[in-house]
This record gives sequence, C-alpha cells and structure tokens, in this order.
Amino acid sequence: MTLLAASGRAPAMPAVTLPDGAAVPALGQGTWFMGERPERAADEVRALQLGLDLGMRLIDTAEMYADGGAETIVGQAIAGRRDEVFLVSKVYPHNAGGAAAARACEASLRRLGTDRIDLYLLHWPGRIPLQDTIAAMQRLQREGKILRWGVSNFDAQLLDRLLALPGGRDCAVNQVLYHLASRGIDYDLRPLMRRAGMPVMAYCPLAQGGRIKGALLAHPALQEVARRHGATAAQVALAWTLREGGVIAIPKAVDPGHVRENAKAAALRLDQADLRALDAAFPPPSSRQPLDVV
Ligand code: NDP
Repeated sequence: MTLLAASGRAPAMPAVTLPDGAAVPALGQGTWFMGERPERAADEVRALQLGLDLGMRLIDTAEMYADGGAETIVGQAIAGRRDEVFLVSKVYPHNAGGAAAARACEASLRRLGTDRIDLYLLHWPGRIPLQDTIAAMQRLQREGKILRWGVSNFDAQLLDRLLALPGGRDCAVNQVLYHLASRGIDYDLRPLMRRAGMPVMAYCPLAQGGRIKGALLAHPALQEVARRHGATAAQVALAWTLREGGVIAIPKAVDPGHVRENAKAAALRLDQADLRALDAAFPPPSSRQPLDVV
C-alpha cells in the first residue's frame, strides 16, 4: 500500500491510485451542508484546515452544496495552501454539457479561488447525453481547468454504458453511497470498478452520523468491534469502507473532535474476526440491489 506523507506531525495516510497513476489520500473530507449558515463559516473553515493538517488532503464539494456556499468555504480553507490539496467538485447534471459546463466550471473555480479542479464529477446522471458530458469534460481538461473527470451515482449498468463510449474509460472515479448498512455495490458495482481499475469514492461513509439507515454508529456489532480496538464506532465504520483498498472515503465533520477521530481511522486495520462479525450484522448482498442514493 502506498503511503502519502502528511504535513506536520500527522501520520502518513494510505493512498489510493487513480487510473492515471495519481496517488490520492484514502480518507478525504466532505462538505455537504457547509456554507449554509454564516455564523458557522469560521468553524467550517477551521475544521477543513485541521483535516488537511491531519493528512485528509482530499476535499469533496459541489456547485450544489449551499448554492456554491460550500465551495466558498473550501476556497477559504485552502487559501495559501492550494498545492497541498486534491480538490474534487461536481457539476449539476443540467450543466454537464456544452457552454453550461464551461460556465459552471468557471463559477466553481472562482468560488474555490483556484485555477484548476483536480477531479470534476458529474453529480448524478441526467438528461444530457453522456457523450456530450464526456466532450465537455475533455474540453475543460484541454483548457487546464480540470485535471481529470469522473461520475457520481452511477449504477453498474450505467457505468458499463459509460465505459463503452469513446473516451469513457478516462472516467477516474464513481462516487456512490457506501457504508456498512448500505453495501449493495459489493455485489456488482465494486467488482466492475475493480476490473476497470477505477476507485470508488464512498459518500456518507458514516451514514450521515446516524441520520440515515437508523443509528448505524450505535449498532452493537460496530460498538463491539470498536471496543476490541479501543476505537470509536465511527472509526470502525470508516476503516470498514477502506478495508480492501480501491476506496476513498469522504466523511464530513465540522466538530474538531470528529475531524481528529476520523483522521485516525486511516490507521485502524480490521482483522478477519472483525470482518466476520460485521458481515454477520450487515450481510453482504447476495443479489443485485438498486443503487442507494440520498
Ligand atoms: P457522513 O456520513 O460523512 O456524515 C456526516 C455527519 O456525521 C455529520 O453530521 C458529522 O457531524 C457526523 N460525524 C462526522 N464524524 C463523526 C464522528 N467521528 N463521530 C460521530 N459523528 C460524526 O455524511 P455526508 O452526507 O456528509 O457524506 C460525506 C460527504 O460525501 C458529503 O459531505 C459530500 O461531500 C459527499 N456526498 C456526495 C453525494 C453525492 O451525491 N455525490 C451525496 C451525499 C454526500 P459534524 O459535522 O457535526 O462533525
């Protein structure tokens, strides 16, 4: 496993390799719901900066989040340290083609205070033909505004279609919902992506702190594994998403205690007994499941 050096005294972070060979941290930071309340902005900026200091140098955002407000928060957090960060943003499906894509990307770059986005994702499948989205992404790449592109919320069938299109194999990642209580992608999507050499970017890796799929972090099986390791349930949930490599998890945290806890999850290795206990409580899929989304 490749390890990326982190800044300061932070431990090295496991890395995931993208199809073009770029190494990115296996643990990054999400930003959904940031930028919505001005009185929270300073805390949000500080949380992202703390996460960067601790090695979570990938930040995921989107033009959708707080109508650009989250990108503005990210811009403030990375000011003066752009080169440390692997920046991911997402374009709305209705903007993912032609002149609209150019306008949306320019607006994101302005809010982020940078001249380039490291990875630009189609946020979810929409009505614009995939071939037009690929063409728009390629144009942005030629202009240097984005360094690579990917998709989000694509199920195995749609990803297969994308891969068959001219240029489709340049897709760097597929960002999908993935946590212990929502692991349908283990049946078909993850194997397909593994064969294509394309990492999964796991969103809601903490099941939104328990707001979706019940109280995931309070589940006794998770608590028991956490107890064995002297860890927290959140750390076990994150370590589980990273257990086999090829997955980048992007937990969102504003509470600095949460940020510290999450960063340490990268060093937690679950053993076979842990994985068996978690499989018993959250059985792997035995048939194709519809893709979960939020
Ligand atoms: P997460 O699963 O990351 O959960 C975030 C919640 O968990 C917050 O309430 C946070 O609280 C809490 N939390 C964080 N760390 C801990 C911890 N150690 N212990 C207990 N609670 C904790 O949900 P998200 O929906 O935010 O998903 C992560 C990211 O994925 C998003 O922020 C976004 O960037 C991306 N995303 C992408 C989607 C897509 O369609 N492509 C859809 C949804 C998300 P607090 O903030 O108070 O610390």
